[in-house]
Amino acid sequence: MFADLHLHTNFSDGTYTPEELVMHARRHGLSAVALTDHDTVEGCARMSAACRQNGLEFVPGSELTAELDGVELHLIGYFIDTEHPRLLGEMAKFQSVRQNRIREMVARLNKLNIPLEAEAVFAIANCRSPGRPHVGRALVQAGFCATLDEAFERFLKKHRPAWVPKFKISAVDAMALIHEAGGVAVLAHPGLNRSDDVIPLLVEAGMDGIECYHTKHTPSTCERYLAVAEQSHLIVTGGSDCHGLNKGKPLIGTIKLPYSHVLELKSRADEVRRSRLTPRPLANPPVS
Ligand code: AMP
Ligand code: ZN
Ligand code: FE
Ligand code: FE
Repeated sequence: MFADLHLHTNFSDGTYTPEELVMHARRHGLSAVALTDHDTVEGCARMSAACRQNGLEFVPGSELTAELDGVELHLIGYFIDTEHPRLLGEMAKFQSVRQNRIREMVARLNKLNIPLEAEAVFAIANCRSPGRPHVGRALVQAGFCATLDEAFERFLKKHRPAWVPKFKISAVDAMALIHEAGGVAVLAHPGLNRSDDVIPLLVEAGMDGIECYHTKHTPSTCERYLAVAEQSHLIVTGGSDCHGLNKGKPLIGTIKLPYSHVLELKSRADEVRRSRLTPRPLANPPVS
């Protein structure tokens, strides 16, 4: 039995609907899948229903853009309660910041004499958590760029003229939020974020796991993080980070994680929930 614990749908910047994604997961022989859309859990209800219909196990999740000591990190919350009021409140904030960022990127394009309208981007995104790939697709659709890659290379990549930095929650706050919502906090694709120096701080702040298996990790990168996981007693996870047809061939099916990793995540989620019910012992109990 195999799992893919890092997947995006069109509720953020993937191209597949939850139902299409589940169909592909089934075709690739996966038994369990997690949905990890950026800054949203809105796709989880449909993905869960599609999984149920197709006999797959569903792991609810979300990938939060965070930072620690100036380093950008992506933290995934697995098994979060997708109806948790504070989680939903925080996500609504991230989403509104993302929408303003789209307007800002469009304004920058307009200054470059590219008459794209924000509404065109929102129409393509058709979700509350829009991002740069949607701006890129709008540029392609309006004929300003030939491909999504060209849109990123010319305009959207970091430090290119239409690039606007993204809001990042502090990693410590992100992990507290994930735990409060009953979830397990996992560092996504550490090999892509130069985050090695901050891993000890993340561990100290309560991080539960680390994504060792990822499409963009080389075998040696994967080995390095497996060693980190062992040393710091972290749960090992992995996933394809499939965004559908954004970049040519879909990545789903390229990472097949043994199901035992899902069991580990699940038992950690149980622990998180139990510890939420039990008040923490005080560091300095009052003297009676
Ligand atoms: P954002 O969250 O708005 O900063 O956008 C990040 C998303 O853009 C990620 O999901 C990446 O997969 C995607 N992305 C980054 N570079 C490229 C690229 N050259 N072509 C297509 N998508 C990209
Ligand atoms: Zn994405
Ligand atoms: Fe990511
Ligand atoms: Fe991702």
